[in-house]
Amino acid sequence: MRLVLLGPPGAGKGTQAVLISKKFAIPHISTGEMLRAAVASGSELGRKVRSIMDAGELVSDDVIMEVVADRLSQADCGSGFLLDGIPRTLVQAEKLDAMLRSLNVPLRHVVDISVPEEIILERIKQRGVSAGEARTDDNAEVAKKRLDVYWAQTAPLSEYYRKGGLLREIDGVGAVEEVSGRIYQALGV
Ligand code: AMP
Repeated sequence: MRLVLLGPPGAGKGTQAVLISKKFAIPHISTGEMLRAAVASGSELGRKVRSIMDAGELVSDDVIMEVVADRLSQADCGSGFLLDGIPRTLVQAEKLDAMLRSLNVPLRHVVDISVPEEIILERIKQRGVSAGEARTDDNAEVAKKRLDVYWAQTAPLSEYYRKGGLLREIDGVGAVEEVSGRIYQALGV
């Protein structure tokens, strides 16, 4: 199983990604998590991306493609993978396609989770106040910026993948199990 999860911040991608990766026993590759780990470790990559992430902007395509290429080359990706948070731009989508084609492991599905903007803003606000998740990019202003970036740069990817016949559109409103049920149905499992 090789898939990408698409959807705006706050659509529940992270939650669904955990369930899907367990179900198929494939690694959950979250570029946001990888970058947050780099920031926490104080590595060179972390120092480079920290202020960009805090502003809710996108890290450069070259940097992110290097991060993901490195991750996809690891042995645990042999049985498949779930990408969460990448691609975010058309350039990334094209580069990812080329990379996966050259490795002979093309994507099978792109799951696009849609949720109305009012619900997204409410969810992001909740996440910002919940003690469990310490994200410095979850305040209201940055959340708005991340959404703007999503609509401008990432939302057009739905069309790109629709043309490629990979897009599976999912209604992301409802309980976690309801949404995962819709996803499994769309994947034909
Ligand atoms: P996420 O956890 O997926 O919302 O990612 C958190 C932040 O990491 C984003 O707001 C971006 O600054 C950065 N980031 C994660 N993935 C990407 C990507 N594919 N391209 C550019 N920036 C990214």
